[in-house]
Amino acid sequence: MYQDMVDLIKMPVCIYSHNGKKLACNDRWSELLSYLKDWDMMLSHDHQELHSSILSAIKVNRHHELKIPVSLTENRDGEMSFMLLNDQSVLSFLTVKSPSLTVDESVEDVLERMNDAFFSVDHEWRMTYINREAEKFLHCHRTDLIGKNLWKEFPRLRGSEFEENYLRAFHDQVTIQFESYFEPRDHWYQVHVYPNKHGGISIYFRNINELKKMEQSLWQSAHTDYLSALPNRRYAYECMKKYISKDQPFSIFFIDLNQFKIINDLYGHDIGDQLIVKVGLRLQKCMDIDTEVTRLGGDEYLIVVPQDLNDSEIDAVGNQIIGAFNQAFVFENCPDIHVDPSVGVSSFPKDGSLTDTLIDKADIAMYEAKKKQKLRAVRYDPDMHQSISRDLIIQQELKKIVERGELAFVFQPQVDSLNNWITGVEVLARWEHPVLGTVSPAEFIPVAESSGMMDKLTRHQLDTCLHQFAQWKKTYHFDGTIAFNISSLLIRNRSFMRFLEEVIQKHEISYHQVEIEITENIQLFSHRESIQALERLRELGVRVAIDDFGTGYSTLSYLNKFPLDKIKIDKHFTDQIHVDQKGEAILVSIIKLADSLRLDVLAEGVETAEQRDFLQENGCRHMQGYYYFKPMSLKECEKFYREKILKHRV
Ligand code: C2E
Ligand code: CA
Ligand code: CA
Repeated sequence: MYQDMVDLIKMPVCIYSHNGKKLACNDRWSELLSYLKDWDMMLSHDHQELHSSILSAIKVNRHHELKIPVSLTENRDGEMSFMLLNDQSVLSFLTVKSPSLTVDESVEDVLERMNDAFFSVDHEWRMTYINREAEKFLHCHRTDLIGKNLWKEFPRLRGSEFEENYLRAFHDQVTIQFESYFEPRDHWYQVHVYPNKHGGISIYFRNINELKKMEQSLWQSAHTDYLSALPNRRYAYECMKKYISKDQPFSIFFIDLNQFKIINDLYGHDIGDQLIVKVGLRLQKCMDIDTEVTRLGGDEYLIVVPQDLNDSEIDAVGNQIIGAFNQAFVFENCPDIHVDPSVGVSSFPKDGSLTDTLIDKADIAMYEAKKKQKLRAVRYDPDMHQSISRDLIIQQELKKIVERGELAFVFQPQVDSLNNWITGVEVLARWEHPVLGTVSPAEFIPVAESSGMMDKLTRHQLDTCLHQFAQWKKTYHFDGTIAFNISSLLIRNRSFMRFLEEVIQKHEISYHQVEIEITENIQLFSHRESIQALERLRELGVRVAIDDFGTGYSTLSYLNKFPLDKIKIDKHFTDQIHVDQKGEAILVSIIKLADSLRLDVLAEGVETAEQRDFLQENGCRHMQGYYYFKPMSLKECEKFYREKILKHRV
C-alpha cells in the first residue's frame, strides 16, 4: 500500500515504520540515496534514539511536521521533513532548496504538487480535500465542493465501476486499484482508493488516455496482417481460444488459393501481393458481420463462423466463399486473373478442442479438396487422416523425452550492437525425435504445458544448461547472462521457484548472470503470489525480462508495478521496419516507453543491417536475431566466442 502511495509522489519520499524500519520509498529517493546514506542509517534500527526523538518531536506538534536542514552537496541544501502517519509510521521527504527558491513544503503542498489528482471524503461521503490537479479534472473549484456530498455533486458516478469500487473500499476499508473508462469525460483513468482516518476514503487518479492509446495501437498492430490489413494468424488463434473457453460451437473454413505460386512466378510478387489484398477484401465482403475473416499467411485465409453449422449450412457458407471468386480479379498493367480457392472445414467441438488440432484438420480437409479439385467446401472426416493425431503422439512421446536424452538445447547470443559484444545467451529447447524428426518448441512446449510436464522439463534444462554455462564461465570468463524461457505457470509453483534458486547456487553462478524470460500474461501480472515470487528472485539479483513484448494481452500500466528489468520487443515489430510506417512508429514508442521506465530493451528477430541501423538510430542497441547469430550448440557458441567476438573487442 505504501509503495503505491510513494510511487505517486514526485518528490523524494520514504516511509519508515514506528520502529525505524524502512517500509517503502520511491525512485527519486533511491536516486538520492548516495547523499542520504547517513539519513537512512540514522533512521534505521541502530539509531532508535534519534528516531524516537524525531517521533516525539512530531507528536508534540502534530500539524507542523518536523524539519531538519541537510546539506546535499557543496552548493545544494535541502530540508528533510518528517510527518507522522495514522499508523504511527513516519513519512519523510526531502525538498531541495535552490538559492532562488525558498521551499516550505507541507503535506498539502506535497499533494498539491502531485501529478495525480487527489481527493478525499469522510465517513459521510463529504468531500474533505481536493488538490489542484483534481480541480482541473473535475472542472470545478474546491471551495464549491468541500463539505459537499460526493454522490450529489457527481451523480454520473452512480452505476459506474467507480461507484462499485469506492463503495467496496469504503465499507470493507480496503485498498483498491483499478482502471476504468469514464464515459461522460471520454477518459481512461487509473485509480487508487485508500481508506482514510476519517472513516472515509482517499482517491488518487490519473488520466491514462495516452497509455490506453498506445495499448490499443500495440494490440492492433500485433493482430493485423500488414499486407491485407485483415486480422492475422495470432488473432485467428485468440478468437478460436475465446470461443473454446466459452464453449461456443464454431466452424473454421481454411482457404488456400489454387496455383498461387504460378501466378506469383508469372506476374511477379507485386501482383501476387495485390491479389492477396483483393481476395481478402472480397472474402470480407461476402461474409456476414459476425464471422471473422483472417489471413494466416502466404495465400492462406481462415474464416471463423461462431455457429453450430450442420452439413447443408457448411455447404452454403462454402458456396458463399467460392462464389466470391466467380469474377476475375482486375489489375492495372496486367491481364485479369481468375483464381479458385480450395476450402476445408473443421468444427468445434466435433473435431477437437485444441486450436492447433482444429487448424490441422481443416488443413487436411483443404488438401483433400485441392487433390480432388472440388469446388465446394470439404468437411474434415477422420478417414482422411489415417494416422493418429500428431498432438497425441507428441503427448505420448514427450513423457520420455528426458530419459531418452532427446531434449537438447541451443543458445542464441544477444548482442550489444554498438560494440558487437555478446551480452548474453538465450537457451532454446530442441527435440530430435527418431520418427517425428525435429519438433519445434513452438509445437511441443504448449503440449508440455497442457500436460503438466513443464516442471520436469525446465528443471532438467536449468540443471543441464547452468552446468554447461559454469564450464564456459570458467574457461572463457564469460561475464554475460544466460536467459531461460520460463512458462508462466511455473512462476506460481513454489517448489519450482525454490529449485530455481538452489540450482543457481549449486552451479555457483551469480544470480545477476541469470535472466528469466516470461511472456506477457494478464493472470500472471495480477496474481499476487507470482509477483511476490518474482520480487524475491529480483532481490537475489536474478533478472526478469518480458518476452514477446507487445503481442500479449497487454495492459501497459502493469509495467510500472511489475518487478521487471527488461523488455524484449517481439519480432513482429522488428519486421515492420521499412515495411510499415505505422508499425515503425509503434516500435519507436515501445523503445521510448521502455526508456522512460528505465527498463532495458532488446529487439528480437533482427535479420538485416537496415533493421539494425533503424533500431540503433532509435535508441535500441541490444539485439538478437539471425543477422547476428542463429541459435547454435554450445560448441558452436564457444567457437564464435573465441574466434569472432574476442577479436572484435579491443
Ligand atoms: P522466443 O522465446 O521468442 O524465441 C525466439 C524464437 O525466434 C526462437 O524460435 C528463435 O530460434 C527464433 N529466432 C531468433 N532470431 C530469429 C530471426 O532473426 N528470425 C527468425 N525468423 N526467427 C528467429 P524457437 O527456438 O523455435 O522457439 C520458439 C518459441 O518456443 C520461443 O520463442 C519460446 O517461446 C518457446 N521456447 C523455446 N524453448 C523453450 C524452453 O526451453 N522453455 C519454454 N518455456 N519455452 C521455450
Ligand atoms: Ca524467449
Ligand atoms: Ca520472444
